[in-house]
Amino acid sequence: MDTPATPMILAARLVAKEFAAPHANAVDQDARFPLEAVTALKREKLLSAYVPVALGGAGSSLSELVEIVETLARECASTAMIYAMHQIQVISIVRHALDNPWYQNYLRELVQHQYLIASVTSEVGVGGEMRRSHCAVEVDGQSFTLVKDATTISYGAQADDLLVTARRNPDAAHSDQSLILVRKADYTLEQKGGWDTMGMRGTCSPPFLMSSVGDVAQIIDVPFGDMSAQTVVPVSHLLWGGCWMGCAAAAVNKARAFVRGQARANPGTVPPTALRLAELVSMMQSLRTSVQACLTEYETLSVADDAAVGTLTSMGYSLKMNNLKIDATQALPNIVTKALSICGILGYKNDSKFSMSRHLRDAHSAAIMVGNDRILATNANLLLVLKDD
Ligand SMILES: Cc1cc2nc3c(=O)[nH]c(=O)nc-3n(C[C@H](O)[C@H](O)[C@H](O)COP(=O)(O)OP(=O)(O)OC[C@H]3O[C@@H](n4cnc5c(N)ncnc54)[C@H](O)[C@@H]3O)c2cc1C
Repeated sequence: MDTPATPMILAARLVAKEFAAPHANAVDQDARFPLEAVTALKREKLLSAYVPVALGGAGSSLSELVEIVETLARECASTAMIYAMHQIQVISIVRHALDNPWYQNYLRELVQHQYLIASVTSEVGVGGEMRRSHCAVEVDGQSFTLVKDATTISYGAQADDLLVTARRNPDAAHSDQSLILVRKADYTLEQKGGWDTMGMRGTCSPPFLMSSVGDVAQIIDVPFGDMSAQTVVPVSHLLWGGCWMGCAAAAVNKARAFVRGQARANPGTVPPTALRLAELVSMMQSLRTSVQACLTEYETLSVADDAAVGTLTSMGYSLKMNNLKIDATQALPNIVTKALSICGILGYKNDSKFSMSRHLRDAHSAAIMVGNDRILATNANLLLVLKDD
């Protein structure tokens, strides 16, 4: 990316090299939380990067965050995905709850204590359909109770707080949702299964039964449907895009080093793998170009006066951001697989510096992190009513 190297980006580079890279293989092998990297992210105040300066944060832009996520993902995709998921929660709060004094205080505290926020959208019986919930908030006077049977909560055991989708009340339709922040002291998590997965093992994302209480001020006023279209979906696909670019770039750079090594071994010749490398670099460029184009457009649209009612909420824009997710998640495993074929047996070995195993396994999480067919089904419905370009 070509974002100028701000203090937050420089800090992320340090965390990536000094704290994410050295432990990435152990995190993957043991399916353990990347404690060293996340502790360093907190120390560098990177968890509050997006919080406005007026509340004590760094006031970073989304572009900066995407670059930070990519930087982390080049060394450890699990660390990067944890950071990306946390920032999606922070951005949702900053964009949609800043006029609520409870949330202003919360963000100040987040800056001070570097709280890590996990996301609880997926639910038993609903799967990855973010715009539907079974569970409902039950309000009694000033307080609420909320119980959710979640299929997947990344870093649920390590998070400080949770941002949860639920039906607005027990009589509400499944799509009439609120977003609610629940505090660590006010919820319990009963782990209902394990997290022994193919990839993204360090995200530590098992199923949990979550039971919580809180104050009604914690229920964000803006309907979740509005937040989802304007912020949650585009920002998720862009920050995840940063993670997928970093994962792809790590594989591409190994393939480049491999081909350079072959060229050095036979001076004056072009190794046959150089042709495949040329293709690979072109695939990487396409992935980067599509994420960057959507990022630039989103940053412009989201600060426009009509952001809440304009293009961001249109069907055409939903289709475009869904297509970014589909295309990027199809490109990523293809890029890593091509890098593997360039490096040959040294890419296939687990104990080689060209090993692609972790990158390939991590890459395959992208298409199922909200199933691509589920997203294509949404697009299919949109296309039935959307006018031609
Ligand atoms: C690394 C990782 C971390 C995650 N972290 C979190 C987290 O922190 N919090 C969270 O809430 N979620 C998280 N998720 C998402 C969550 O795990 C899944 O989206 C959710 O559990 C649904 O699981 P599922 O694959 O069974 O998908 P489902 O949505 O139940 O779908 C199952 C299958 O049916 C297909 N399908 C579904 N609907 C349709 C349709 N209409 N048309 C055609 N095909 C369809 C899907 O494509 C998929 O193949 C994470 C996922 C991953 C991979």
